[in-house]
Amino acid sequence: MSMAYSLFLPLMSSRSVHELLPSVLVAGLLLCPAALVHGSESPGDESARLAIKVDQVGYPLNGPKVALVSSPATTFEVRRSSDNQVVFHGKLGTAVFDPNTGDQVRAADFSALRRTGSFYLEVPGVGRSWNFTVGKNVFQHTYYMAMRAFYGQRCGTAVDMGPEFPGYSHAICHQHGEFHPSSGASGPRDNIGGWHDAGDYGRYMVNSGISTGTLLWAWEIYGRKLRNISLRIPESGNGTPDILNEARWNLEWMLKMQDDDGGAWHKQASEHFSGFVAPEDDKLPSEVIGTGAAPYKSTCATADLAAVGAIAARVYKPYDAKFAAQALDAARRAWAWTEKNPDVTFRNPAGVSTGEYGDASCKDERLWAAAELWRTTGEAVYNDFFLKNYAEFLPSLDSPPAENWNAMGQMALRTYVLSTRKGADANAVAAIRERILAAARAIVERTRANSYLTSMQAKDYVWGSNGVAADYGAGLLIANVIQPDPSFVDAARDNLHYLLGRNTFSLSWVTQVGEHPFQHPHHRPSGDGKQPGPWPGLLSGGPNAARQDALLAAMPRDLPPAKLYADQLASYASNEICINWQASLVFLLAGEL
Ligand SMILES: [Zn+2]
Repeated sequence: MSMAYSLFLPLMSSRSVHELLPSVLVAGLLLCPAALVHGSESPGDESARLAIKVDQVGYPLNGPKVALVSSPATTFEVRRSSDNQVVFHGKLGTAVFDPNTGDQVRAADFSALRRTGSFYLEVPGVGRSWNFTVGKNVFQHTYYMAMRAFYGQRCGTAVDMGPEFPGYSHAICHQHGEFHPSSGASGPRDNIGGWHDAGDYGRYMVNSGISTGTLLWAWEIYGRKLRNISLRIPESGNGTPDILNEARWNLEWMLKMQDDDGGAWHKQASEHFSGFVAPEDDKLPSEVIGTGAAPYKSTCATADLAAVGAIAARVYKPYDAKFAAQALDAARRAWAWTEKNPDVTFRNPAGVSTGEYGDASCKDERLWAAAELWRTTGEAVYNDFFLKNYAEFLPSLDSPPAENWNAMGQMALRTYVLSTRKGADANAVAAIRERILAAARAIVERTRANSYLTSMQAKDYVWGSNGVAADYGAGLLIANVIQPDPSFVDAARDNLHYLLGRNTFSLSWVTQVGEHPFQHPHHRPSGDGKQPGPWPGLLSGGPNAARQDALLAAMPRDLPPAKLYADQLASYASNEICINWQASLVFLLAGEL
């Protein structure tokens, strides 16, 4: 659950992990992924693959194609995987020091290669790389994997990833819930549904808000490309595109978290984290948890419900007008509640230690709600609120926040500009556009100057840094919607390349994607001992220089920020999965299809 652990719960989280750690970790140490895949090869083969960093998924046929080499060498070849034929050869760039990793990096630019197929790099004196593809629609399968991973996170139902991933299934889970005393109510409240948030089984409105909103935006912007991609989920073929079918699973749960007065409870989770058990084996009571005092619901959760409900009203209208109307009604009632209760923040009540998703200010969430409601309805009340409050959030457009779930100013400003509503304030639109485009141009320059060709700065290696990389990409893609510019799309894709293997670890940070993906997510269904490996399609949190778990804390003091990562189940601060990072990855992939 991202930063919620780091700020308030490090001991609780690590304790729950350690209960069943020994056997899992021993297995992880003895059977590293490379040993499983290439057990018959020499250590030199392995070190070459780690030194030659490629996007293990691939490169679009007509775009830039760059690999990076961190061992001394001068030339490289691109060879066809099927018969080792050389299809391209070139000189490596000069070595450049990268302070974020401590690596000396040389670029292997094979952009001029215009052949489709499966290839690898051969670097004389170093060895060969992992395989990758050059072609059209090269990221479509990765989009499928990343979006389908949300199905794997479904709560309140049995899940089976099917014959493609045999053994990845769980029985129906969390079928009963109840009001916690902090909610101001009592008795049963099942609220079945939603997505398990992260490595744990909690469901949290605030993180659901940004995650679901991001997926619905992906549909609004890239729906033409996504419309016909089946996710092989139970609803497939029902006439609604699958990305919307999957998002609705979580939306339905969010709607159930709204009280009769319009406010939304903050979260539904057990009081403390379960052990590393399968979802159906988590028998801790699932509690609807509130603020502990009137009005019991929180403003951030309620405003996020208003925002997402407003988007849903636009998006689902062609497919299910009744559901769209229900979502809009919920959004309006949620907004009205926040007008009466503009600043009810949330902290975990006494005795509750699951993810907090606390936030000192809900003003940005309200701005997002107003902007989405304006975009959907065109009603002046929402526009007026937006125009009174937007200016203070303009600086938020310059860079992704470290915790994107608590900083909704960017989405508020972006949706105002993406809207085509008449009556929008021209000065506000111009100011936001200018700021978005200036930020994008600066990020492109920085990305080109970075030895690893990422937009990441030293300060970005925080809890969930891979989500920050994905958010840089998403921001560049939105800039490209506002003013098309191929350099924005290329720089966005550079961040995708980073996540898919062109990084210091030569590691794909998406499970079961690429030849060398990470293996040990902090994710209870992957760590319960019942599956052959990690559940597919999940994005790791990534390097975290704040070292908020024992494994990171024990690493050498002088290790550069981008190196502070452990592919181990116990490293919840660098290797957990989370739906908000996952949604950012899906958006980035959708934009690069
Ligand atoms: Zn569940």
